[in-house]
Amino acid sequence: MDLIKQIFDSGVVGCGGAGFPTHVKLKASPEILIINGAECEPLLRTDRYLMIHEAEKLVSGVDLICRELSIPEGRIALKKTYTKEIEALTAAIEKLHSKVQLHLMDSFYPAGDEQVVVYEVTGKVVPPAGIPLDVGAIVDNVATIIAVADAVSGIPFTEKYLTVTGEVREPSVLKVPVGTSFAQCIEMAGGTISDKVMVVSGGPMMGAPMSWEAAMNASVTKTTSGILVLPKDGAIDRRRKTQLNHMLNRAKAACIQCTFCTQLCPRHMLGHPLQPHRIMRKIAMNMPHQDNNETTKDHWILPELLEDKDIRQAAICSECGVCEVYACPMGLQPRVVNSLIKGELAQAGIRYSREGDTWEADANRPYRKVPTKRIAARAGVGAYYHIDGHTYKEETASKVVLPLKMNIGVPAEPVISDGVHVEKGQLIAACPEGKLGANLHASISGTAHLTGNAITITEV
Ligand code: SF4
Ligand code: SF4
Repeated sequence: MDLIKQIFDSGVVGCGGAGFPTHVKLKASPEILIINGAECEPLLRTDRYLMIHEAEKLVSGVDLICRELSIPEGRIALKKTYTKEIEALTAAIEKLHSKVQLHLMDSFYPAGDEQVVVYEVTGKVVPPAGIPLDVGAIVDNVATIIAVADAVSGIPFTEKYLTVTGEVREPSVLKVPVGTSFAQCIEMAGGTISDKVMVVSGGPMMGAPMSWEAAMNASVTKTTSGILVLPKDGAIDRRRKTQLNHMLNRAKAACIQCTFCTQLCPRHMLGHPLQPHRIMRKIAMNMPHQDNNETTKDHWILPELLEDKDIRQAAICSECGVCEVYACPMGLQPRVVNSLIKGELAQAGIRYSREGDTWEADANRPYRKVPTKRIAARAGVGAYYHIDGHTYKEETASKVVLPLKMNIGVPAEPVISDGVHVEKGQLIAACPEGKLGANLHASISGTAHLTGNAITITEV
């Protein structure tokens, strides 16, 4: 059967980011397929686990994709420090007589940013607001290729690998049905050490912080890469709780225009015209008057500022957080400012407009890479950085909640009726014909209930 159709039928989406449907991404004809094994976020260990324990499946998956889709080159990009992973992959490549090559990178953050990894591997700069295909590359992460290999064996995407770490008794890499509750995952990792905790879904740099109460209502989706249990009122929690008007007023009063945020910005270092220090200056100089008790964003930016050339560059910020967690000596948050501007630009219907057609990486880039260990310490999670021996655990669930939209594009449409019995692996919601989206399958057997924008399955 056609590989693209197998991937579509199985509902595979990118496991590492926003969940772009994999069958659409692989329809292109790139010159190189890059497997992102950088495991960019400091505390996550899932891809590293898979590169060691599923090395042959990964290498044969890359070979298969390259062969079936006539992609001339397949490379797995990972860090030089991942010695066990390099050993396992090298052995798999030799055993399978594979043409896949390894590309070894320094240990820096954000090595796994799609545009950064493309530059590291190919030496080509993806244009601002562009995609890797603009320079002939496709990037998929390790877990996505494992899901593709399963799809070829007729196994739909119903199970998810993720890391649970932080303030838990047994930091673990788990394999659970998609839709499993965060509560069960945290219990699988031995439960919490302290009762004053909050949770981040994803990594410490770019993940979504949430209160403990919110986490107890959350479930694993196709894109959940990790669950971090962190101290309440720690550095990440404090940043989460910083009020917008307070943060903006501090930017106005405290930005010393040192330019460190720009000098260390990974996108700026690729030659993109993003200069967060200029954005901060213009925002600070043009802030409308705010009453002390104003906490909404309704009044924080003057509409005419959206016409400004520097301000518009916020659209190409990856929100990696280097500027706020590492670069800024004043503890300011250019990332948050950029994120807000992006929202305003989208609301105003202003699309990014590129100038020029060549971009050159900064000659100082090799010396300005931020070591992963140091950024973990600055992010306030250095205490967990050394945890390497994660236990591996697999479990099923007695109840799963499956949102109809776990991917970029439109939600899947239910193809079952409320209250019916479904079997694990059965198609329960389909990608609407001709639309960007992904199929959804039952991740456990049980009784399915349609609950608005999700399907809940309860074991009987
Ligand atoms: S978050 Fe900061 S460092 Fe990262 S891309 Fe945006 S401006 Fe640059
Ligand atoms: S690093 Fe901080 S103080 Fe320096 S220019 Fe950027 S926002 Fe301002």
